[in-house]
Amino acid sequence: MARLRARRPHFRTSWIARGAWAAIAEDGGYSLCNAGIIDLGGLTVVFDSMLTPMAGSHLAREARRRTGRGADLVVNSHWHGDHIRGNASLLPALVVSTEKTRDLIATLGPQQWADDRKTMGAALRDLDSPSTDVPANERALYRGWFEGTLAVPLPFSPVPPSLTFETELRIHGTQRELRILTFGGGHSPSDVFAYLPEGRVAFLGDLLSVGLHPSAGDGVPWRWAQILRRIRALGVEVAVPGHGPVGSDREIRHIEAYLHHLDRRAGAARRAGRSLAELRREPMPQSFRAWKFSAFYGENLARAYRFERPKGSRVP
Ligand SMILES: [Zn+2]
Repeated sequence: MARLRARRPHFRTSWIARGAWAAIAEDGGYSLCNAGIIDLGGLTVVFDSMLTPMAGSHLAREARRRTGRGADLVVNSHWHGDHIRGNASLLPALVVSTEKTRDLIATLGPQQWADDRKTMGAALRDLDSPSTDVPANERALYRGWFEGTLAVPLPFSPVPPSLTFETELRIHGTQRELRILTFGGGHSPSDVFAYLPEGRVAFLGDLLSVGLHPSAGDGVPWRWAQILRRIRALGVEVAVPGHGPVGSDREIRHIEAYLHHLDRRAGAARRAGRSLAELRREPMPQSFRAWKFSAFYGENLARAYRFERPKGSRVP
């Protein structure tokens, strides 16, 4: 049975630079993804709204506590439910993303929500069964995800963005400015990130994971690696990931290396005429074995196998 109250806090907030905080999801809480709070001076921006309206309400309170005002703008990094289902709790803020992400939230969002509600009861029971194949150190993370989803009060439907942009939106407060950007889709069909030039802080959504496998299940690994290269060229000192603790340029490089690894492995399998099933049976490299969301690795390989990197594009 879903618990209305999470076993753990939804997230913990920490100061990362002048006017910027990271809200980092706790395993077992109902946020699943991280968020950012940015005080531009007379303008408060929240980056991503988390998995549930309950976590979104905590985030709204936290934004007010840290900046002295409610959220004026909420940025949705991409359409996936764990980043947008708290939107309603942050209204009347304007919700911002790309037109493509808005379309995906409006078209695929309700179906993803219905599927999640239908399947997560059984998934939660499986998590408690002795035969579960979810590693012990990942169970709290999944439990919060499933329980949180099942605890959302009905009726519920995702709130889509009301303001969209093409490539960049600059938000000027009285003290600092924030750039909301997209370099296209890598993790999802359209990925938005925020860059705070003062402090060189990037809020990257699922373009970055730290200590967890990223998910390429809805993305294209080689395009994603190119996007990360362009983001690093901006100069990033503090990188807030969609999942996991706050990182830096170094952690962005790790994910770039991971994506190139997927490409190399999938390319070698293709050239050798090996099937996807054979590819999936290859052991995971030691350097990724401690990462949570280990089940994503096979699916990530499958995406690299399906979406071949065009010849001539750069690989380190
Ligand atoms: Zn995602």
